[in-house]
Amino acid sequence: MAEVKAVSKDGIAVHTEAADLPALHETIASLFAAQGNWERAYQHLRSALERDALTAGYNRRFLDQQLARLADGHLSLAMVDIDLFKHVNDTFGHLIGDRVLRSVAALLKQDLPRGAFCARYGGEEFVLVMPGLDAREALSAVERARLRVARYAWHRVRPGLTVTVSAGLTARPGPAEERLREADALLYAAKRAGRNVVAYPDSEIPGQIRHSG
Ligand code: GH3
Ligand code: MG
Ligand code: MG
Repeated sequence: MAEVKAVSKDGIAVHTEAADLPALHETIASLFAAQGNWERAYQHLRSALERDALTAGYNRRFLDQQLARLADGHLSLAMVDIDLFKHVNDTFGHLIGDRVLRSVAALLKQDLPRGAFCARYGGEEFVLVMPGLDAREALSAVERARLRVARYAWHRVRPGLTVTVSAGLTARPGPAEERLREADALLYAAKRAGRNVVAYPDSEIPGQIRHSG
């Protein structure tokens, strides 16, 4: 990855890896600490702790903290997984796999409703957290995200490359852990339904699963 010169909003010039946002925040934090500006140092260190080094998006730590904070409110939650990603690595190599991960992270967070965010859950899995949306609005947001990935010009990255995601969406109230488990179970239903779809509970027939495909 090319080294770039970045300037923080505090006007401090630093050299860092292009996508390594946590490292950038860490460097700025150490510069503030050296100046004795502990408050700014702490702010940047906190930002470093909530970002994923590969994709620069939010990480699992941030997700867990936010889910604990949002526990009592109404929120929709989608578990999103890249389809047949092992095949991407095996066919095009892990560096292209990493590039795909960064692009998928960027596409998933584009155009999310206000207050929503995307975090990398681990590996090639992401979670979309959408507070204050009803089930229909949440489904529409996840569908748009799925289509953004499916319609992206992947062939420009490598000829023959295509990338899709599947998702499990839950919009029921309940403890975060339970919601994640439900979204995960729905994600498997989306995979079984043929991938590149969003699976969600049918609002009219309890226990029934529908998918967007
Ligand atoms: P499915 O559609 O069922 O999800 O199939 P899959 O191939 O995506 O699922 P599987 O769990 O078999 O493979 C996930 C792959 O994701 C395996 C692992 O090597 C790859 N992976 C996880 N994290 C990273 C990463 O940071 N970079 C790269 N390049 N690959 C990663
Ligand atoms: Mg997976
Ligand atoms: Mg996968």
